[in-house]
Amino acid sequence: MSLVYERAEILGCRLDVIDMAGALQVVQDAVGSREPSQIITLNAEMVYRAQHDRRLIDLYSKARLVTPDGIGVVWALRRAGWQIAGRVTGIGLTLRILDMAREKNWRIFLLGGEPGIAEQAARKLAASDKPLTVVGVHHGYFHDQESPRIIEQVRAARPDVLLVGLGAPRQDIWIANHLQALGVPVCIGVGGTLDVLAGKAKRAPRVWRRLGLEWLYRLVNEPSRIKRQMALPKFAWLVLTKIRPAGKRSRPPRQKSYR
Ligand code: UDP
Repeated sequence: MSLVYERAEILGCRLDVIDMAGALQVVQDAVGSREPSQIITLNAEMVYRAQHDRRLIDLYSKARLVTPDGIGVVWALRRAGWQIAGRVTGIGLTLRILDMAREKNWRIFLLGGEPGIAEQAARKLAASDKPLTVVGVHHGYFHDQESPRIIEQVRAARPDVLLVGLGAPRQDIWIANHLQALGVPVCIGVGGTLDVLAGKAKRAPRVWRRLGLEWLYRLVNEPSRIKRQMALPKFAWLVLTKIRPAGKRSRPPRQKSYR
């Protein structure tokens, strides 16, 4: 059984109408088929950035899966009339993929973060109650000329899942450029998730997450994010002015279904 889900479009960017269970099914299908697949978790900042960079719009359209990461894109989807359970964030999806990896004995490669972070994350993952098979690590501060060497290292390790934490959109561009050469069934951009796995950064407390305020928590803890987050009001303005509320749509959106 393969999962069928709708592809929505928000301000020109492809976004899949899918929940966590559906996203995990896609991950499982990709590992099963061994077909190299890119997963993107898309937030408002990335959609806003794509308004000035058509290459990103193209990149999103070619991925295997683009999930709604962030309350801004969920709001935009709902305004457009899509029924969506909630966010499927990079960190949330990654933690669930890692749980699944423990069960199914998948091989994981961690790429990204400052030198030492991926190693530290790997050590923590290996030391947990149900250890995880981490088959390789590499930090994320490398020049593009070094990519062939890193790709070789990843290929030799034969992972099922590659977590790439270089920050968006660099991580998503890097995966798209090297997807076939990497040959890894599931390649996913995970932002600062490796820092959380390593214990260097903390995830927003559950109550903040439930209120859709993860962005505010991160801003309070990392005030330098303010420059990036200036995209959020601009994104909101575009949504309000360019997306007609669902009531005015002539065709009701179709629901996710299983085949
Ligand atoms: N990073 C990296 N290489 C770079 C720039 C950033 O590996 O050249 C890492 C950085 O150390 C951090 C992550 O990428 O772990 C970016 O985190 P950020 O919070 O910016 O990403 P987001 O979660 O917002 O996409």
